[in-house]
Amino acid sequence: MANIGIDLGTTNSLVAVVMSGKARCLLDEAGTPMLPSVVRYEAAGVAPVVGAVALDQAPRFPGRTFSSTKRFMGRSPADCAEDARIFRYRMDDAEPRFVRFLCEDHAPVTPVEVASEVLKALKARAVECLFGEPGGAVITVPAYFDDAQRQATKDAARLAGIEVLRLLNEPTAAAIAYGLDQRASGKFAVYDLGGGTFDVSILDLNDGIFQVLATAGDTHLGGDDFDRALAALVFPDLASRSDSEARSILAGAESAKRALSAAGDAGATADLQGCAVSRTAFEQAIAPIVARTTDACRQALADAGLSASDVDAVVLVGGSTRVPYVRQHVAQLFGREPYSDLNPDQVVAIGAAMQADILTGSSQLSDDLLLLDVIPLSLGLEVMGGIVEKFIPRCSPIPISASQTFTTHADGQTGIALHILQGDRELARDNRSLGRFTLKGLPRLPAGIARIKVDFLVDADGMLHVSAKEEFTGIETQIDVKPSYGLTEDEIEAMLEASIDNAETDVEDRMLIEARVEAEGILHALDKALAADRAMLTEPHFERISAVAEALRLLHVSASPGDRKRISELSHELDEVSATFAQARIERDLSLALSGRAADTVGAELGLNADGTRAGPPLDPSAAPAPSNHGRTSYARS
Ligand code: AMP
Repeated sequence: MANIGIDLGTTNSLVAVVMSGKARCLLDEAGTPMLPSVVRYEAAGVAPVVGAVALDQAPRFPGRTFSSTKRFMGRSPADCAEDARIFRYRMDDAEPRFVRFLCEDHAPVTPVEVASEVLKALKARAVECLFGEPGGAVITVPAYFDDAQRQATKDAARLAGIEVLRLLNEPTAAAIAYGLDQRASGKFAVYDLGGGTFDVSILDLNDGIFQVLATAGDTHLGGDDFDRALAALVFPDLASRSDSEARSILAGAESAKRALSAAGDAGATADLQGCAVSRTAFEQAIAPIVARTTDACRQALADAGLSASDVDAVVLVGGSTRVPYVRQHVAQLFGREPYSDLNPDQVVAIGAAMQADILTGSSQLSDDLLLLDVIPLSLGLEVMGGIVEKFIPRCSPIPISASQTFTTHADGQTGIALHILQGDRELARDNRSLGRFTLKGLPRLPAGIARIKVDFLVDADGMLHVSAKEEFTGIETQIDVKPSYGLTEDEIEAMLEASIDNAETDVEDRMLIEARVEAEGILHALDKALAADRAMLTEPHFERISAVAEALRLLHVSASPGDRKRISELSHELDEVSATFAQARIERDLSLALSGRAADTVGAELGLNADGTRAGPPLDPSAAPAPSNHGRTSYARS
């Protein structure tokens, strides 16, 4: 079973695998590697819609469609109230511990559940492309993700039925994709500019260990800002336009941006709703935004105690690094051309797949030892006076353990409260609380006599386990640190149980959906055929077809699970009554083809590969069957 690499992104997610010694992203049926991280929940009992369809239809279902939810993973409602306002999500006030979005016609959903739907869709793609269950997964997370956010990511994977082999920092994955882990040592900058987020990480590689020396960035800065800046050149009143107008202007600006980025010529222009915009004007408009990213790079360098010339390689990640102006400025800042040979959208997933492959133990890529990662923030314990005793300093390579011995403060003290913290500030209140537990049942001793040994262990996934033991009595307690803001073990168990309990109805729902999709396809094809060639039918034949089509259309709209069989029957009947019509059209097309047009042109119009088969989900474009003029001729519905 091949292990997979998953880039669980804010905007898009990808899954990749190493095949024949090469990492590649798995494609969907349309040949696209990226799955929009967008989920729409349907009424109870119906599977959610995930990906491009949910994204495209989001304006119609704003109250039940969720995107960008990675921003909310493992954070408290108070932490992300501003994001909720920006994305117009209503949070469930009844739940102060973690974020739950209110969802029309559906129980509230958590960001972990949304992420698990995205992960399920990626897993399904892997199952289809690999002809079977994948092994475990390496899932990437931003370097700045804290313990709670990492735990939330693992919870989502677990809900999706994915075994997490490792969580890997995104910049580390990008560095691996470029083979930088094969070097003996080096300092690397990873510049990641996506649609709505920007971060830069400075990595230090030593003896196979990547350390994140510094990160900087802005979680509200990206290509979407380029679109707004470009749109404002032509529509300065963009802010006062209606939602739908603004959306179509911004979509136009995004296309114009891509066209300007692709144009080799600096003097190029692109069309934005009838107005020509020059590349020069675009670059002037985005200059302040790009300057903010280069300022963040300087900040990260300063935090890492480095200057730009100390950096041995710069890696570009994220779709917005395709903008030539961005590349120029990154190159200028670091005084060297950034690595950009790999697709910047795919580089993180590719690196994750390479790491996942190494974890199989029989990798064709590398004989090296496992690549190690580091913890992003220091971990410690609150001690008397509200100060922090650091156990494990940030950037320590993992796995790692550390222990310290404490004692009691008051005579006869029978319990000791342990408060685990993450962060690098001196006072407990300025750090993030990861959890609390109490060691109870201590013998009544004078202050300062008991010896309580506290152990911190960070495992290979960056997860923290803390235990405390009183050494004279052997009394012991321990905690696997769960985030303060996340799902509890019981809640996860309940969800897993629910998914098992509902397995049967889930299958029925799935079959109904499949029958509806098939009916939709048949009706759509028939409508197209009738619009073009109604004249080929006699009136009675047309009426017979219309009657069956109408019955199917009605049932398809109001379908409940009990209607599945009838929908399939009607689809079949419609196929039969329209068979001679379809055949007549095919023969007409064939005779057109034979009278001068190439057969493969006709095939292409019918949505067929040259051998007459339908396009399946290829692993990559080169895996799709090559066109051939000697193929079997068979006709699927167009
Ligand atoms: P990501 O979040 O990495 O998927 O990046 C998405 C961002 O990249 C969006 O703002 C896209 O508009 C932008 N993007 C993708 N392709 C291009 C391109 N060819 N030229 C300019 N921007 C692009």
